[in-house]
Amino acid sequence: MESWLFLLSERGPFTSGEVFRSGGIYVYRGEAPEACPRCGSRRGRYHSHGGFLRWLRTFVDGRIDRIRLRKPRYLCLTCHQTFSLDPPEVLPYKRYSSFLIVLCLWSYLVSMAGMHHCLPGAVSEDISARTVARHLSLAKALAVETQQAIREVLIRKTEPRPVEDLFPGGLDPPESLRRKQSKEPDTAGMLWRALSMLRQGAQALSIDPRTLLAWAQQSSRAKKRSFLL
Ligand SMILES: [Zn+2]
Repeated sequence: MESWLFLLSERGPFTSGEVFRSGGIYVYRGEAPEACPRCGSRRGRYHSHGGFLRWLRTFVDGRIDRIRLRKPRYLCLTCHQTFSLDPPEVLPYKRYSSFLIVLCLWSYLVSMAGMHHCLPGAVSEDISARTVARHLSLAKALAVETQQAIREVLIRKTEPRPVEDLFPGGLDPPESLRRKQSKEPDTAGMLWRALSMLRQGAQALSIDPRTLLAWAQQSSRAKKRSFLL
C-alpha cells in the first residue's frame, strides 16, 4: 500500500476538481447528464431536485476517513423518477472511493497472505475480508474493461510516445500472485496488470493515481462501459 501513497500529490480526497469542501461536507456539483439514465429523456425534461448526503470512506490526509458527500439529485418529468450523480472518484452505490477499492484489491494481489490477512492494520479495521472478496470477484470479471480504460487514458497522456515507454521493466506479475494463480484465474493477473499500469503510469507521468483513475472512470461512463466493479 505504501507503494501507492507516496504518489498522492493532494491531501484532499477528490482530485478531479469537481468536488468542493463546504464546512464539514464535500459537495459535488457535477454537470447534468445528456439524458435521464432511467428513460432516456433529453435534458430539459428533468430538473434539479435538491441533493442528498451519503457517507463515503476514502483517503484524507494519508489515512482512511469517513466523510460526508453531497450529491445532486434530479427529477425527470417524463418518468417521474429521480436520479443522482456520483463524482468521478466514486462508483455508483459504493461506500468506498474507487481509489480505496484499488488499494484493497492491490493489497490482496501482491500479498503472500490470503484474503483475511492481506490488508494493513489501519485498513482492516474499516474494511472486512468479505468486502474485499466481493470486490475482487467483481473486479476480476471486469479486468479487461478496466485495463482497457486505464490504457486509453495513459495513451492519451503519453502520445506521441508509445505507452509501453511507461513500463520499462515490463509488467510481469509478482511471485506472490504467481503462487496464488493456482486458485486464481488469469483474470487476477489481468487485474494486477491494469492496476500496475495505473501505478507505474502515475509515477512516470507525475500525476496523482486518483486523477488517472477518475479520468478512466469518466471515460468509461461516457462510453457507457463498466469500470472496475
Ligand atoms: Zn426519466
